[in-house]
Amino acid sequence: MKTRSWAEPFKIKVVEPLRMTTRAERERAISAAGFNTFLLRSEDVYIDLLTDSGTSAMSDRQWAGMMLGDEAYAGSANYYHLEDAVHRFYGYKHLIPTHQGRGAEHLLSRLLIEPGDVVPGNMYFTTTRAHQELAGARFVDVIRDEAHDPADPSPFKGNIDLAKLSTLIDRVGAERIPYLCLQCCVNMAGGQPVSLANVREVHAICRSHGIPVMLDATRAVENAYFIQQREPGQAGRSIEEILREICSYTDGCTNSAKKDCLVNIGGFLCLNDDAVAEEARNMVVLFEGLHTYGGLAGRDMEAMAIGIAESVQQDHIRARIGQVEYLGELLQRAGVPIVRPIGGHGIFVDAARFLPHIPREQFPAQALTAALYVDSGVRAMERGAISCGRDPDTDENIYPPLELIRLTIPRRVYTQAHMDVTAESVIALHEHPERVVGVRFTHEPRYLRFFQARFEPLEGQGVLRDVALADAGQEG
Ligand SMILES: *Cc1c(COP(=O)(O)O)cnc(C)c1O
Repeated sequence: MKTRSWAEPFKIKVVEPLRMTTRAERERAISAAGFNTFLLRSEDVYIDLLTDSGTSAMSDRQWAGMMLGDEAYAGSANYYHLEDAVHRFYGYKHLIPTHQGRGAEHLLSRLLIEPGDVVPGNMYFTTTRAHQELAGARFVDVIRDEAHDPADPSPFKGNIDLAKLSTLIDRVGAERIPYLCLQCCVNMAGGQPVSLANVREVHAICRSHGIPVMLDATRAVENAYFIQQREPGQAGRSIEEILREICSYTDGCTNSAKKDCLVNIGGFLCLNDDAVAEEARNMVVLFEGLHTYGGLAGRDMEAMAIGIAESVQQDHIRARIGQVEYLGELLQRAGVPIVRPIGGHGIFVDAARFLPHIPREQFPAQALTAALYVDSGVRAMERGAISCGRDPDTDENIYPPLELIRLTIPRRVYTQAHMDVTAESVIALHEHPERVVGVRFTHEPRYLRFFQARFEPLEGQGVLRDVALADAGQEG
């Protein structure tokens, strides 16, 4: 029997007009942006799939909550609402709000890391690793090997390799490992989830060595959905229950509320240990703000509290991930190489396979994001060698196994028709990949270089050759 269609569990009350651009305008814009989609002006973008971070549409209830902002410097009522929501849905003992996820990562890294330490994790995340390194630690990836293979269909490619973890603990000693960083729906692997069984086992191993487990809970809700859908024995459980169980195997979390929690700004650090939480409350005053606002307005905390409760609703999460799957299936059916299985927050296109004529030293993923923008005004992000940066010891470029572009879907923002337009543009490029030209650096920042780097195409003609071919129907 054919399954019936689902539709978004909301209707649209306010609209934000989009500006259509011509191909000539887009060529000028991407050139002015140094062929880096991060440096485009958003008014020049038609469909913005740069990130799902802070780009969610808030609900009418969240907007109503914004009017209930209690902007007291200390002890804002909204802080206590947020604390209630975090206790109820995540379950940790202490909450320290921060302006966004990296604020929490900064505090956690400074609190727990000593120079020379080693922090294991399931594939790095850019800001997370940067803060660990700034505090003097070395990050060691202990994700299972299948995470590095974009074609491997395993359901939980975010899982930690328990053998790699045990070997690392034996090699460096538990006393050199301040904590393990466990990421949900591993971003750089294509939004691949971890299984509940894996979280439980990681917890057991770390506990036997006295190593705390710190969750990067940024996409824990989406991860809970994959557990419900894919893990034996979990189908009958609610997202809320599964989320609580994930968190129960960990000693604290950092969270960017700009993702799952459906707000435009905000984050938090949670800790179960009273003494560490006390230190974190001391430190947050220096870097973020008082411990009852952490760099946020009262209204932001209210929107976050409401967003957390909305994020675990089954119909919300099903439609959110359903939309990502819809786009992924359109591309897959057309033969576009994408990371499989389809992850939670976006579609990751395998740029190395998409553009086999561009060597890794010419950054095929960076070139593809620029070409996609020129073709249709869709803005994607590079997730490959540019994002990975240089080896801190040798200063050489790191070429990670995955050279991807990410089409990231903001939550509750775009319609199925936007997904169709996006797919058509990617498919059109895939039909003539030889039109895309490699790029080289003209400016390379030292930290998190992907945000502000500038490039130029290796040939003088722009990043997408053959203007006549490209003009099919995307003119404003
Ligand atoms: C976005 C993100 C962060 C950092 O959070 P910000 O709010 O952008 O500072 C950390 N970890 C993961 C997995 C993320 O996706």
